[in-house]
Amino acid sequence: MSTTDELLKANERYAYSFKLGHLSSPPARKVAVLACMDARLTVEHILGLETGEAHIIRNAGGIATEDALRSLLISHHLLGTQEFIILNHTGCGMLTFKDEELRDRLEKQTGTAAFAPVHFHTFTDLESNLRRQIERVRSHPWIPKHIPVRGFIYDVKTGRLHEVRSSAQTVAA
Ligand SMILES: [Zn+2]
Repeated sequence: MSTTDELLKANERYAYSFKLGHLSSPPARKVAVLACMDARLTVEHILGLETGEAHIIRNAGGIATEDALRSLLISHHLLGTQEFIILNHTGCGMLTFKDEELRDRLEKQTGTAAFAPVHFHTFTDLESNLRRQIERVRSHPWIPKHIPVRGFIYDVKTGRLHEVRSSAQTVAA
């Protein structure tokens, strides 16, 4: 049995006792979280969120890519979220390789170049990467200035969060 087949069995059990059909689409706690896809992060558990309370947008690294920004814009303008959180974490895999290395490896393995993705968005410093992502979101012309954008590093060994302030926030404070 493949993992997918196992998961489908789990879904049968889930649907049998399903009680969330009453939920509406706009997140009840009006918050959107952009987080790394790392399997050790269960964003709902880390932040005490329940189904229906938040938008959770995930990708490798928790990067404010064009697609993550697209989701945040829809989250705020169409579904009413009023606060954004960006979650990176210790031990992130994106610290362990370089864009060019992976690109070279994949080109060698497949014998072909690809036009996308343009970037893998690897980084070498956790805090400075997180500051850059906060700034990308805060400086977007379609994201209102009153929306708080706060960034945290989740420690995969302790479960704790450590806030990282962007340079603009530090100047303002
Ligand atoms: Zn990660």
